Amino acid sequence: MTTQPWVAPIGVHTLADRAEVLFHSTFGGAADGVWAAPGRVNLIGEHVDYAGGLVLPFALSYVTTVAVRARDDDQLHCVSTHTDEQWRGNLSEVAPGHPDGWAAYVAGVVWAMRNSGTISAGMGFDLAVHSSVPVGSGLSSSAALECAFALAVADLLGHPTDSDGRLRLIDACIRAENEIAGSPTGGMDQTVAMLAQPGHALLLDCRSADTRPVPVDFESANGRLLIIDTNAPHRLVDGQYGERRAALEVACAELGVETLRDIDDADAVLGSLTAPESVKRVRHVLTEIKRVGEVAELLTLGRVADIGTLLTSSHLSLRDDYEVSSVELDNAVDAALEAGAWGARMTGGGFGGSALALVPDDRVEAVVEHVMHTAAQASLPIPQFLAAEPSRSAHRLSLR
Ligand code: ADP
Ligand code: MG
Repeated sequence: MTTQPWVAPIGVHTLADRAEVLFHSTFGGAADGVWAAPGRVNLIGEHVDYAGGLVLPFALSYVTTVAVRARDDDQLHCVSTHTDEQWRGNLSEVAPGHPDGWAAYVAGVVWAMRNSGTISAGMGFDLAVHSSVPVGSGLSSSAALECAFALAVADLLGHPTDSDGRLRLIDACIRAENEIAGSPTGGMDQTVAMLAQPGHALLLDCRSADTRPVPVDFESANGRLLIIDTNAPHRLVDGQYGERRAALEVACAELGVETLRDIDDADAVLGSLTAPESVKRVRHVLTEIKRVGEVAELLTLGRVADIGTLLTSSHLSLRDDYEVSSVELDNAVDAALEAGAWGARMTGGGFGGSALALVPDDRVEAVVEHVMHTAAQASLPIPQFLAAEPSRSAHRLSLR
């Protein structure tokens, strides 16, 4: 097969050098510094964030780097190796829907910080971006971009970047994504990009916003977590996402609770719902939240291989009860399991994007081969593979 199956993580300093070269060739002179923020994968806890549930993402070694220089006017100039589309504009004109391309994620961060009074008018930025996070594959290249830039702005202004400072930056990044880029996502991606610790996943309680690091040591279990980017074509799924959220709201109203997280006795609740579709949707959410707690518990005990069956149960629940999987994701999961994975599931919103597989070391090559082979046989796009290692959060690489 000619497709290169592995997406190389590329060292962060190599990425940073490339961002600096792009900065120099575009804007002249040198950047004030370079910052990095990671993509992420959600180990388990899918479609439960908006039900006040638990999620368990970790930061990847695939990162976005930004070379940034402060300006003393209201201008934002940005360029990226990912696209030919540059953006140069006035920060006071940033508003929902403007700018409308990738610059929305960057301009939105400054907009949110100006909005909250964190930074004042009369301050702008030049920035150049280079990243190893696959874009649009459900690994959160958007939050990586926002968080790398938000940390840069905070550092350049001398604002605190300790955990309290980061909580404020997370808010700004979420507002940028929701209000300026117009993408109605929760805060998981930004939270993990800003607060992750190497060797740990982050257990995030979406009801209280509390976080707790959970140790994840695949290596000592002689296993690896593979991300399978299905390269599936983009589908119009906005309606589906809204429909699932609406279905949960209707169920909550019927059950008289604010969120499904507030339910203790799942069996009693499922028996009292009238519509069969409601039962399925609610059952996914309730069983998934329970699985997240169990996975966190097993990982804390160092029982890594034992989480496999829970990952697979999560997939079946998303496929059959929540109905957000796709032929490409099902193919990747089935093939990984057939070739010896301990467990596998779709990850992210679904309908395409990426799957993950927890694989014993001696089955990694077999899983890669079999996933690619079955995709080819079914005339699906050939997937690519990333090695998922719990990595560090957003950080500064250099400052002049
Ligand atoms: P995901 O976050 O899962 O990768 P999204 O659709 O949420 O997918 O975000 C992808 C968008 O983020 C891209 O279409 C682009 O607008 C922006 N983006 C992400 N990374 C980069 C980058 N390196 N350069 C320019 N734009 C980027
Ligand atoms: Mg995103």
